[in-house]
Amino acid sequence: MAVDLDHDPLVVDLAHRTAEFVRTVVVPEEERYGGVSAVGGEPMRLRLQAAARDAGVFAPHVGTEWGGHGLDMRDRALVFEEAGWSLFGPLALNIAAPDEGNMHMLEAIASPGQKERYLRPLAAGESRSCFAMTEPAPGAGSDPAALTTRAVKVPGGWRIDGHKWFITGADGAAFAICMARTSGQPGDRGGATMFLVDAENPGMKIIRHIETLDEALFGGHCEVVFDECVVPDDAVLGEVDEGFRYAQVRLGPARMTHCMRWLGIARRAQRIAVERAAERRLFGSRLGELGMVQAMIADSEIDIAASRGLILRACVDLDRGGSGAQSTAIAKTFTAEAVWRVVDRSLQICGSLGVSGDVLLGRFLREVRPFRVYDGPSETHRWAIAKRVVGQQVRTMKEDA
Ligand SMILES: Cc1cc2nc3c(=O)[nH]c(=O)nc-3n(C[C@H](O)[C@H](O)[C@H](O)COP(=O)(O)OP(=O)(O)OC[C@H]3O[C@@H](n4cnc5c(N)ncnc54)[C@H](O)[C@@H]3O)c2cc1C
Repeated sequence: MAVDLDHDPLVVDLAHRTAEFVRTVVVPEEERYGGVSAVGGEPMRLRLQAAARDAGVFAPHVGTEWGGHGLDMRDRALVFEEAGWSLFGPLALNIAAPDEGNMHMLEAIASPGQKERYLRPLAAGESRSCFAMTEPAPGAGSDPAALTTRAVKVPGGWRIDGHKWFITGADGAAFAICMARTSGQPGDRGGATMFLVDAENPGMKIIRHIETLDEALFGGHCEVVFDECVVPDDAVLGEVDEGFRYAQVRLGPARMTHCMRWLGIARRAQRIAVERAAERRLFGSRLGELGMVQAMIADSEIDIAASRGLILRACVDLDRGGSGAQSTAIAKTFTAEAVWRVVDRSLQICGSLGVSGDVLLGRFLREVRPFRVYDGPSETHRWAIAKRVVGQQVRTMKEDA
């Protein structure tokens, strides 16, 4: 497959301006709050987003009718990586998870009325959202078909009952996109529906903030209960029983945008390590002239370049209307592990400085580790990648027989 590596000059310019904005405006705020979003809170989010709007770099992903730049996936790769240079860069541009993935899905699936009510304020940064799919065992996790949350038809609407956890950004979100089973049994591959649930709905309750390794994503990760949560018929997003199909609309691109953002942090970590390696003198030479450190620096360069290439390849698949199931799984698995390796090597090169709070490498390490679990754990993706390859071979053998 031929892949055009060139970008429109306007997109290149947007990426440059994003890089400049993140380095000069966002990084100082990130350092001030140690990369923990709850410390800066809502005033920080509003301040950063206002500054991004003034700099003309806000909401690059949504269409112009929603106040954005309408970038396709390939162009997003360029700009999101620059935004990801800081833990708070995506928040500033309004392209952080889970809002960015939710905007993508609302743009693709929502009715005109739902777009006005939910997408417009979300794209403008006037509201936040969350995506409620995962459940405590034995419910949905790596295997979404295990979904136990149920929605039953009541006059004029639906009643949702279920238990979700690890719902990023739920605290303070204006609404949740909740995945619930409308037919079939846990274990069935179909029968799920997505519902738009307003935060004011008394049937949706946040019962706790889960303490986690990572603390940069806004609104934390929450445990949420849907208890006799009644929503009107027009709360259905798309069609009834099509939720698993729509989840793919969100998950493939959302996997890639996570990779793009975390690649930015990997580059930042590598920059910190390279600056240190160029300055620090040990055993009569620069640190960066010692072979084992050179190897770490080179391996990180290779990890960064290979991740970028795989992301680009998957984005081309998505832009051409493909499902990208295989290419996004490959890119996600590789990038999540590569980003971890790069940050870990960078910390090692910096020695005790790397472990200290004087640089943010320890914070970066905590932030990137969960990426090997969410958006599909590495093992789930490897299993699915191999299943597709072997399945294809079995089909070929049957055709040849
Ligand atoms: C920081 C964070 C934020 C999150 N945000 C959200 C959110 O906003 N909304 C939401 O709905 N969910 C969210 N999640 C949940 C996330 O999507 C799930 O954690 C993920 O799908 C894995 O499900 P699980 O945790 O139930 O693990 P399980 O399904 O219990 O899997 C446990 C382990 O089993 C192994 N495994 C899985 N599949 C296979 C296989 N095929 N073969 C061999 N081994 C396998 C893997 O090592 C995996 O880590 C978040 C999670 C984290 C950590």
